[in-house]
Amino acid sequence: MLPIQPDAVRIETLVLPSLAANKSRADVLRLDRIHEQVSGNKWFKLRYYLESAKAAKKTTIVTRGGAWSNHILATAAACRMLSFKCMGIIRGEKPALPSFILQEAEALGMELHFLSREDFREGKFPVELDSRDHYFIPAGGYGPLGARGAATILDHCTKENYTHICCAAGTGTMAAGLLQAVPARAIVVAVSVLKNNSSLEKDILALAGKAEAALQVIHDFHEGGYAKHSDRLLEFMNTIYRTARIPLDFVYTGKLFLAIQELAAQDFFPPGSKLLLVHSGGLQGNASLDKGTLIF
Ligand SMILES: *Cc1c(COP(=O)(O)O)cnc(C)c1O
Repeated sequence: MLPIQPDAVRIETLVLPSLAANKSRADVLRLDRIHEQVSGNKWFKLRYYLESAKAAKKTTIVTRGGAWSNHILATAAACRMLSFKCMGIIRGEKPALPSFILQEAEALGMELHFLSREDFREGKFPVELDSRDHYFIPAGGYGPLGARGAATILDHCTKENYTHICCAAGTGTMAAGLLQAVPARAIVVAVSVLKNNSSLEKDILALAGKAEAALQVIHDFHEGGYAKHSDRLLEFMNTIYRTARIPLDFVYTGKLFLAIQELAAQDFFPPGSKLLLVHSGGLQGNASLDKGTLIF
């Protein structure tokens, strides 16, 4: 298995006509390049949990997520690399045909346990955790160590260059970390990929440990809801690939980039803005689309 390569992170310029029209510009922070499976932001969110598990001499990592969770796959791969055993608690009954993510995670050695949606929501565990061996990481890495890891994303750029740090948000852990590291006067723009996730702003602020902050949460670009997509989203992703050679995923980064283009067209960004778009990875999620939908 290939090692994680934080040095593979690159900054690329993105030309968006709507941004250029108001004399603003955007860079893309390509976190997707560090590893195929421990992709993008997932490595950053996991790193301190795994460090702390090692330090406490735990043998088994336990975490939770859905059947299409990038966090599940990233955890499975990272545990394989670091010689942890690992257990994934999966939302919903065991499917007849496991998702690509579940197949990969299992092949990497993750022991899968399925819980009904109700039991999952209530935070139940299918097995009793043993405090000597087990180390628990919350779903999506949502917790102080996850945010602290995400804060180190900005070590890979000259953050003072930017007025807006823009990211996609699921649990909001990455956005909370970015808020902790954002330079004075810059703001974090978090694009929610869920429909009606009205607690997102509160969740981000709670985790960042701030009562109020330079945070703008955008709710209008879920394109139908979590892991749903619209035709305009897929067309837009193909256009970005054709013009900028940047592959995006349809669950997170596609929605982020689409939101930025549309917000720029609505003059959301003051003239002269300098945006950093965090490409948080997740490209393996495109495997669930019909072949030929995307040109990359
Ligand atoms: C998980 C994920 C996110 C969301 O991160 P949160 O910290 O849960 O908000 C964003 N982008 C990609 C590609 C992801 O896999």
